[in-house]
Amino acid sequence: MMERFFIVLLFSFVASLLSAQPLIVAHRGYWRTEGSAQNSIMSFQRAAEAGCWGSEFDVWLTADGVPVVFHDATIDGIRIEDTTFATLMNHRLANGEFIPTLQQYLQAAARCPGIRLIFEVKPHRTPKRDSLISELSVELINKLGLAERTDYISFSKHVCRRIHEVAPTAKVAYLNGDLTPKEVKELGWTGIDYNAGVFDKHPEWPTEAKKLGLEVNVWTVDGKEQLQRFAAMPGIDIITTNDPTLLKEE
Ligand code: MG
Repeated sequence: MMERFFIVLLFSFVASLLSAQPLIVAHRGYWRTEGSAQNSIMSFQRAAEAGCWGSEFDVWLTADGVPVVFHDATIDGIRIEDTTFATLMNHRLANGEFIPTLQQYLQAAARCPGIRLIFEVKPHRTPKRDSLISELSVELINKLGLAERTDYISFSKHVCRRIHEVAPTAKVAYLNGDLTPKEVKELGWTGIDYNAGVFDKHPEWPTEAKKLGLEVNVWTVDGKEQLQRFAAMPGIDIITTNDPTLLKEE
């Protein structure tokens, strides 16, 4: 009886290994759908509806200290970092939404259970602003009870360092691709989230990172062929893509 139990257990373990698919993160939300737009609140809701494991978004601090969700450093030629929040409200996203404040975005995210928040803090003009946006981000995530569902990512070493300082148990992954898995581990961060080209150049890094206990995410992988290629690459845990439903389609 006991033997049989262990055989069944072993079989299901092997089956789960064979069928292991990377987790899918919608890049800037699921925006390639009707009525959606990159980094809109709608794009987060659509990613949740599509059953994505996570949804990624980008955060900037306005000149007057309001964290907002937006990708580019500029909108219609003006720099977000140099612009007051009131002025930004004269602009719209491609789907007609206002640029969401981080607070509005996170409040909407809190109403979509079961999907992770992949929170990118953009590199700001000065270390001081990097620190400020990092602190405000962690404060708001904690206040809204989203800490357990949030992974922080950044191209900025300063941002990763500061988030790790103020939220030592939070997951923090580095984006810029210029640190080895060992260096990232030594800094106390929890993952590498690198461009596909970095892993093509360093194909040993995903498995090296796994041995160190780091999480491995690759971006931005689009199209079925590339998605399948990275899904089959040893050591890849997570794929960030603009096509978050493509791997699920037959
Ligand atoms: Mg991003």
